[in-house]
Amino acid sequence: MIRSVKGTRDILPPSSAIWNHVEEQARRVFRAYNYQEIRTPIFEETLVFARGVGEDTDIVTKEMYTFQDRDGASLTLRPECTASVIRAYIEHRLDQQPGLVKLYYMGPMFRRERPQKGRYRQFYQIGAEAIGSESPAVDAEVIELTAEILCAAGLANFELLLNSVGCPACRPQFTSALRDALQDVSKRLCSDCRRRAQTNPLRVLDCKVEADQPVIETLPSILDYLCEACRIHFLKVQEYLRDRAIPFQIRPRLVRGLDYYRRTTFEIVHGALGAQNAVAGGGRYDGLAETLGSKVPAPGIGFSIGEDRLVLALEETQSGGHAPAVDLFIAPLGEAAFRQVAPLARTLRRRGLVVELAPEARLKRALELAHKFGARYALIVGDEELAAGRYALRDMGSGQQRPVAPEELYESVKANVPHA
Ligand SMILES: [Zn+2]
Ligand SMILES: [Zn+2]
Repeated sequence: MIRSVKGTRDILPPSSAIWNHVEEQARRVFRAYNYQEIRTPIFEETLVFARGVGEDTDIVTKEMYTFQDRDGASLTLRPECTASVIRAYIEHRLDQQPGLVKLYYMGPMFRRERPQKGRYRQFYQIGAEAIGSESPAVDAEVIELTAEILCAAGLANFELLLNSVGCPACRPQFTSALRDALQDVSKRLCSDCRRRAQTNPLRVLDCKVEADQPVIETLPSILDYLCEACRIHFLKVQEYLRDRAIPFQIRPRLVRGLDYYRRTTFEIVHGALGAQNAVAGGGRYDGLAETLGSKVPAPGIGFSIGEDRLVLALEETQSGGHAPAVDLFIAPLGEAAFRQVAPLARTLRRRGLVVELAPEARLKRALELAHKFGARYALIVGDEELAAGRYALRDMGSGQQRPVAPEELYESVKANVPHA
């Protein structure tokens, strides 16, 4: 048997209905915050991510799907979308547009991670970028937007973790303090951390190895090293979040696994997801556009929601109800009836009802099927009904049946289904 590739999966009904629900809610909320969709290619020149995400990140060193194209070009399946969005922003001169450029995306990303619960090599992100301002007001709105989407999707009891990772003016002092502190303790850390202690000490703070955590806890806090401008920026973000009654916890070791972050970083975690419990994360990336070759600065902040993990959390905390039910199950008993009701089914579907039309039906079997579909009503059309010009409409809840003329059918059903 041919199976899906390790770390990938099929998303099947009824689970796919939850995915649709999440995406519909996200689009609705994005619209309310005046974000518009961008669709970037699934693959880019490897350079976009190597530069954009950072050469010494886990993503770039270990997890990218990179391949050589037939003409020798190095291409990579996108491991995240921010670098692609900034590449597009520069390429299409979106900096010429008035005001903030506010873009959202949703779709698959690819990382060759160790497969585990809620982690896939093809995974899905819903995210957004607000480009063109350094203002902490934008940070607060982007964080609010992230939380609003999670709420709209139906997630409750999540926590917001917040930090500032400084800027090029203050981070070097922190990095060197970190490097000094690591000299004494790095031998007690994992091999990756020992390497990172030399090459990119900040990345040590990202380490997920359980045994390293007590040592990491003793390392210096970046909040003690922020410059005046970063300190004020961070205080403003916190103030604006309090104004909006958005609770948060400050986590000085939250640096996130990407080199491009500056100042604000945040993560949203949920208890249903276990140890690696982040359902969303994001941060500010004021220097990224320049790293990718932009001549004009394009300060920005964005976030991404791990859709796989959000759906998992919803499935673990909610009790069903997402499988879309059928409004009307039509059971024509015989060829003549079938030919009569097929155009009727089309009309009802056009008017927004969810209609299942049985291709051939025997009464008992049809009613069983209507039950299995969770149909609100069944319509039984046999020779007798055809002759009378009135069909038998059966309420599948009560079992009661009454004759209804075809032209009254829509109103009769619509009155008792939630969505129509
Ligand atoms: Zn600074
Ligand atoms: Zn480690």
